[in-house]
Amino acid sequence: MSWLLAGAVLAAMAWIIAVAVTPVFRGDRRRRLAAEADALQAEADRLEANRPGGTPQHAIEVASASQIEPRAERGPCPRCGGNFHVLTHTVRNVGTERLREVACRCGGCGTERITWFRVGARAVTADGVPPSPC
Ligand SMILES: [Zn+2]
Repeated sequence: MSWLLAGAVLAAMAWIIAVAVTPVFRGDRRRRLAAEADALQAEADRLEANRPGGTPQHAIEVASASQIEPRAERGPCPRCGGNFHVLTHTVRNVGTERLREVACRCGGCGTERITWFRVGARAVTADGVPPSPC
């Protein structure tokens, strides 16, 4: 009989430990997954900032304003491969420059991105050569 009682006590203790400790492990897992998600988001933000046009410092140079929106919509969405569509196209003063800020949204997943452009003087041709003044 005492073995039966000891077994019941052990089973009760095991149940109490399981109930008390499992949420701790769940919390650890949740925090670890949140930290991994934060690290992935930071890496995605870093890559986004370094892509051409990702920041005003990396503005894409174009010869005329008519090239901006087709260029902003070019390339597939990195998340789903869908197409980007222009939402807004705004002239912004950044430091001493007037730049174009173009906001686009992916038609597939809704991801939004901003691309910066510089129109004019420093624009180059597709060969990477400044256009001839003639
Ligand atoms: Zn997408």
